[in-house]
Amino acid sequence: MIPITKVDVSDSEDLVIEVLRSGNLAQGPMVARLEKEFAEAIHVRNCVAVNNGTTALMAALEVCDLKPGDEVITSPFTFVATLNAAVKAGAIVRFADISEKDFNISADSIAKLINDRTAVLMPVHLYGQCADMDEILPLATNNNLALIEDAAQAHGAKIGNRFAGTFGTGCFSLYATKNITSAEGGLITTNDDGLAERLRVLRNQGMRDRYQYEMVGNNYRLTDIHAAIAIPQVSKIQEIASKRQKNAQYLSKHLSSCKFISTPAQVEGRTHVWHQYTIVLNNDSPVDRDEFILRMKGAGVFCGAYYPRLVFDYSCFLDHPNVITEDLPVARHISSNCVSLPVHQYLSTSELDKIIESTFTVLC
Ligand SMILES: *Cc1c(COP(=O)(O)O)cnc(C)c1O
Repeated sequence: MIPITKVDVSDSEDLVIEVLRSGNLAQGPMVARLEKEFAEAIHVRNCVAVNNGTTALMAALEVCDLKPGDEVITSPFTFVATLNAAVKAGAIVRFADISEKDFNISADSIAKLINDRTAVLMPVHLYGQCADMDEILPLATNNNLALIEDAAQAHGAKIGNRFAGTFGTGCFSLYATKNITSAEGGLITTNDDGLAERLRVLRNQGMRDRYQYEMVGNNYRLTDIHAAIAIPQVSKIQEIASKRQKNAQYLSKHLSSCKFISTPAQVEGRTHVWHQYTIVLNNDSPVDRDEFILRMKGAGVFCGAYYPRLVFDYSCFLDHPNVITEDLPVARHISSNCVSLPVHQYLSTSELDKIIESTFTVLC
């Protein structure tokens, strides 16, 4: 069977053992080292590590000091953590439609939703490709809105020379399936030193000096054990991305002739890090998405639907007073027909060939 993700952190053994032997298990020097190395890797002034990607988003929203009724605009096509964080922050959440070219919210659809109550734009760099930040950043600046990037899947992604997570407040996940992992973990990035300082205090119970509380805080701390797992991968961000890029290119070269699917594109000027390689089944496909996934599994290839429904399409959100839904035709079509194929850095050429052959066998 070809898995959709594979984890190999054998490089981390020495550092993890160093932490265990040191007896300093909680947030300490390894967390500081991870923050420094990640900040250098993506050319950002500050990086604040937290215990997962969801709390990264929550902390980034908390320091926006939202007032009741303030609105966040985000993507309807994302992992539920994006929405959970915004609802937990007390925001009213609105959804912009996505673009078929990159699966991310478009500036046009965001612009239509901006009103007097809008406080935050929260684009998601889905699958490892940046949203259209050339257009979204000016929307945030001109309307005086906070910009929080859900970069959970986009370690090392770029537009031109500018990395994901450096346009606004970047929120990365280090969950086990992400391109870089610490099992569980998160990183918040910002070029705003004051904001970084507030995030550091917030993460540690609102405490700067011992028992001196400055704000209502939380415990969002990462452990040194987890930081040690991630550190060796940070220096390999480019290497991991380039292997995934090669795999994606190979898949697209062979799959683009299959008339029942659309293959994913890397938009001109952007560096895609291929957290997922996602095809979309066309309307005339002989099998539907569930059947496709089932038959691929039968052929030995695990595929996934990321994500099978719009993020709010569950009664806990549909019935929630803070969640405002609308007609989102592009996102709805894509969420009903998307399938992600394995693209991870450990695939061999024969495995890539097997993924391609199986796709043709199932569809043709
Ligand atoms: C993984 C993910 C998150 C949440 O990160 P965790 O570390 O699992 O809490 C948020 N947003 C997106 C788009 C993700 O893929």
